[in-house]
Amino acid sequence: MGGGNEAALEALREALRGPVLAPGDTGYDGARAIYNAMIDRRPAAIARCTDVGDVRAVLSFARETGTEPAVRGGGHSGPGLCLVDGGVTLDLSPMRWTRVDPQARTAQVGGGSELGDLDHAAHAFGLGVPAGIMSTTGVGGLTLGGGHGHLTRRYGLTVDSLLSADVVLADGTFVTASQEEHPDLFWALRGGGGNFGVVTSFTFRLHPVATVGVGVTVWPVDRTPEVLRWYREFLPAAQEDLNGFFLVMVVPPGPPFPEPLHGQKVCGVVWCYTGDLGDGRLDEVLKVVNDPAPPAFHFTAPMPYPALQSMFDALIPKGLQWYWRGDLFDALSDEAIAVHERYGQGIPTGLSMMHLYPVDGAAHQVGSGDTAWAYRDAVWSGVIAGIDPDPANTELIRQWCVDYWADLHPHSMGGSYVNFLGAQESPERVRTTYRDNYDRLAEVKRTYDPANFFRANQNIPPASG
Ligand code: FAD
Repeated sequence: MGGGNEAALEALREALRGPVLAPGDTGYDGARAIYNAMIDRRPAAIARCTDVGDVRAVLSFARETGTEPAVRGGGHSGPGLCLVDGGVTLDLSPMRWTRVDPQARTAQVGGGSELGDLDHAAHAFGLGVPAGIMSTTGVGGLTLGGGHGHLTRRYGLTVDSLLSADVVLADGTFVTASQEEHPDLFWALRGGGGNFGVVTSFTFRLHPVATVGVGVTVWPVDRTPEVLRWYREFLPAAQEDLNGFFLVMVVPPGPPFPEPLHGQKVCGVVWCYTGDLGDGRLDEVLKVVNDPAPPAFHFTAPMPYPALQSMFDALIPKGLQWYWRGDLFDALSDEAIAVHERYGQGIPTGLSMMHLYPVDGAAHQVGSGDTAWAYRDAVWSGVIAGIDPDPANTELIRQWCVDYWADLHPHSMGGSYVNFLGAQESPERVRTTYRDNYDRLAEVKRTYDPANFFRANQNIPPASG
């Protein structure tokens, strides 16, 4: 931002209810520190928005000064899409609120809310929304990308529960998008990422979910072939009230894992059962874990849904180095399984891991063209994440992730879940993410953001002509 814009920045400070932090201001470095500590960017300003008025004021400032806007929901994107060097970040973190209507079974959620905010408010009424597996992830970025987690097989993707969204568009117009109003925008918001505007609130349909059955099963990593060959048959055929995501990881050094397992490389499944929990039902449902091979550890417990949602928060706190890549899968071939075993054996650091999240069950009730999420025939959404606290290990975790992904990619469907795309992926890669929906998304982009004002995202440029 040039010196001539200093006056505009001062005017923005005056206009905004929330603080505006610029380089040199107290709190600036804290405000630009996001979940992935590998991201070190210096926006010209970080504007903490308290309401729609603040959002509109920052967008006016960005338009008038030619400063690139970026939007921060929960700050969890791997490639750090909420920060642009020299840009202005609309930090929505003051907009963390939830209003539950228990009669209508809906929740309206502020655009800067974290999943834990929504889970907590809805749980008070025995209700919830299918979303991601960490309570600190932003509702904003997760929902706009699609959103999957423990309740996906039962209740679908997060976008399948979205009823409407309040959006500030590139020209400052404020609209509500739903099936009835701006239906094309509503279609695009359900998977198209942050391309179309700033979502100041989301309204979701809620589903009954209170206490869930949780299970964690791990096997030695050299059992990966037997376990995955069993899992690929068992899970897609299982009832939709059973979800289980597969992982390879290093056992963390703490409970509930017994000490001899600490630091061991394992494969495993994290289960969430939303069926009847009476009379030892959970253990009955999960006794199948003995089928592929004897588990090294198997834990089950009933838990309030928000407790499951925050179970991994302490294990991977903010401030670690992250490098990730994803792909979608409709099958787990023997060749793919061999890749998982090989890279599972070679996990480079204690926190690095690979997850395969089920995206079948209720998520398959919606067609690939019905929302922007284009892979309703995918069965798993995979992510490979190199993670470590030490910046000296950046190259180590990056290389493991890149090599693992390169060997696995030929066995994928070709595209990734947009929220698992990494940094600097090619425009072609974004296109494969949206498959047959890409051209329609580019048309919607042309209608709502013809100048590609919002481009700090996995960008869909406006259709030309
Ligand atoms: P940000 O970095 O704040 O934003 C990401 C993108 O979304 C940016 O382009 C931003 O501009 C845009 N955006 C955010 N909020 C808004 C808004 N209100 N209006 C307009 N644009 C907005 N995903 C899953 O589906 N399931 C999981 O279980 C899951 N687990 C995860 C666990 C961890 C530890 C992490 C780091 C990520 C996980 N993810 C998961 C991926 C997650 O969905 C993405 O990282 C997502 O982008 C995070 O959203 P955010 O708002 O926190 O991120």
